[in-house]
Amino acid sequence: MSQQIIPIGQIQKDLRFFKLSGMAESLDIRIKQATDDSLGYTEFLGMLLEDEINRRSDNKKKRLYHGAKLPFEKGIEDFDFTFQPSIKKQEIIELSTCHFLEKKANIILIGQPGTGKTHLSVAIALSALGRSKTVFFTTVWEMINILQQSRADYSYQKKIQMYLKPDLLILDELGYRSMAESTVEDFFEIVSKRYEKGSIIVTSNKPMHLWDSVFIDKTLTTAVVDRLMHHCSVIEIKGESYRFKKRD
Ligand code: ADP
Ligand code: MG
Repeated sequence: MSQQIIPIGQIQKDLRFFKLSGMAESLDIRIKQATDDSLGYTEFLGMLLEDEINRRSDNKKKRLYHGAKLPFEKGIEDFDFTFQPSIKKQEIIELSTCHFLEKKANIILIGQPGTGKTHLSVAIALSALGRSKTVFFTTVWEMINILQQSRADYSYQKKIQMYLKPDLLILDELGYRSMAESTVEDFFEIVSKRYEKGSIIVTSNKPMHLWDSVFIDKTLTTAVVDRLMHHCSVIEIKGESYRFKKRD
């Protein structure tokens, strides 16, 4: 009985059809390797499967990092703790283990511009991504604008998911501009819907006792602060901007 030989190109096409492009991509190399090294069938198949698994996990990582929308990538190792002695290095290291995500706890970083609030939130985000957690970074201003616009074009329910779904939501730059009353309600909606369901990191240049002026409405301010603070680490950075650091 004559055996019909299927061309490699056809096998690769079929693998791609079944969404096994990791196997399709390495098929040529693995066949050559199997021939050269006289590998058994099991070994050959095992290696191909491993290629598929590795490719999928690489793709997943890329999607996670891309989806987080981080403004830059700087880790804790890039942070000079000696410049900012009011920050307890050990506390930041503990937070970067991401246990706070399991507890659905929050982090509030307060400090003057340039003191490293965004840097530290990005560093913690990178640790979370390394643990396959989903992250979404946005400025408060951008989020409330998107939510306001979405009310106008009826995509609110869909847009709000962007801020509810991730394991970690970073709301950067609270208090740089004051909010209109309607936008405060959107902000409150996100905070209360994530309450005990998913962590938030908030960064602000305004100390918390001045948040009344950010949220305008006193009752809403109390409601937001209550929920954020229930399970929360507050890090107050007392030093000056890193941008003033003398070059040595
Ligand atoms: P903030 O968000 O508080 O305004 P950033 O995190 O944006 O400040 O910091 C401003 C710049 O200075 C960034 O490039 C950041 O990486 C850097 N920076 C701030 N503090 C430190 C620090 N202690 N060590 C190293 N780099 C720092
Ligand atoms: Mg910042």
